[in-house]
Amino acid sequence: MLSILKFGGASVKNAEGVENLWRIVKTQRGSLVVVASAMGKTTNALEVILSNFLDGDSSMWSNFEKLKSYHLEIAHQLFKTVCPQKIADIEAVFNDLLNTLRAKPSGSYNFYYDQIIPFGEILSTKIIAIYLNAVGVTNQWVDIRKVLRTDCNFREGNVDYSASEILCRETFQHTDNTIFVTQGFIGGTADGFTTTLGREGSDYSAALLANLLNASSVTIWKDVDGVLNADPRIFPSTIKLDEISFKEAIELAYCGAQIIHPKTIKPLQNKDIPLFVKSFANPTAQGTRVFQTEESIPYPPIFVLKPNQVLISLTPRDYSFVIEDCLSKIFAILYKHRVKANIVQSSAISFTISVDSEVHFLPNAIDELNHSFDVKYNKNMELLTIRHYDEGEFARLMKGKTIFLQQKTRSTIRVVYENETQS
Ligand code: ASP
Ligand code: MG
Repeated sequence: MLSILKFGGASVKNAEGVENLWRIVKTQRGSLVVVASAMGKTTNALEVILSNFLDGDSSMWSNFEKLKSYHLEIAHQLFKTVCPQKIADIEAVFNDLLNTLRAKPSGSYNFYYDQIIPFGEILSTKIIAIYLNAVGVTNQWVDIRKVLRTDCNFREGNVDYSASEILCRETFQHTDNTIFVTQGFIGGTADGFTTTLGREGSDYSAALLANLLNASSVTIWKDVDGVLNADPRIFPSTIKLDEISFKEAIELAYCGAQIIHPKTIKPLQNKDIPLFVKSFANPTAQGTRVFQTEESIPYPPIFVLKPNQVLISLTPRDYSFVIEDCLSKIFAILYKHRVKANIVQSSAISFTISVDSEVHFLPNAIDELNHSFDVKYNKNMELLTIRHYDEGEFARLMKGKTIFLQQKTRSTIRVVYENETQS
């Protein structure tokens, strides 16, 4: 039996987090693949370092030093009594990063993104693997860049299932209680370049590995009790859902629920592998089971808020109808610039989409759309989805809000409105 345990950045943000991971891992039975994200806010910090690097901004060096001290401090705390000499291994990773940063940039943003940002996952997993080995949980550190094979679509690598399956089987050979520690979020091309699978993609990595290795389950360890019916940072009273179907989970993730990355469900559903979402602070509590079922589960209203939206309205300059050929033109432009439509609505000559506010791809998409369309947009919007809604509750939530777009089915309401608090 092989299970996958995934630990996100928040669960390993400090030395106590890694000690807690050890306590959880040691109580599990059977063979394990521990998949970890970068520690705390490391990915964001590396994104700043990447921008500094590409802009030739010398604040890169102080940002680099900050990231280094953050990791070395955690490593010192963990290693000091059990394996102080292993600090050198972590310093060596920083030397590799330093060599990358000393070069002159000559490739695309996306390419450099994937050569620099993955250092976060390399660092976290090295610290975890070294510490676990030092405290008696013998494990193998796996460099997933050599195992999870993707194409060269930097920043959103497409996984080659058949090549990865062979590599996975060779690498993750296990007997009774074999433990592996590896990185989420990253993969590698056939010619040895690192790729990433999309922000917050470690859940997806865990699901892919489960699929490729026919694991018996995936457990995602979070800083909440399980899947809640709303984000507790935004909605004051929340209910934990004990069970949800894959179908419900994929809808929630697609609408923007941050608890599970949207790509996570498919690899699991395809092999009928259950997913457990559990609290790393309270590991024996029940959490949430996400699984394949055709039975209808009675859900409470579930609220998913997608902040930082831009609502874009397009009108063909020549007044053509917004029908098949026009729609396919719009979507081809969005696809080319990797802009994802979170909600769409159309009428005779207007087409409206809400997309994430983002600075690298969206401006290019808007420029290209501008050739054929009159483009108008509203920033500072929010997209709220309520599954299994209750009319009264919906009316209460919308009181005083200016709604720009609304869609309603029997089970779901979706609205885009202005976020007045920031404007
Ligand atoms: N560290 C990556 C990110 O923050 C991947 C992940 O956390 O899942 O996006
Ligand atoms: Mg993260």
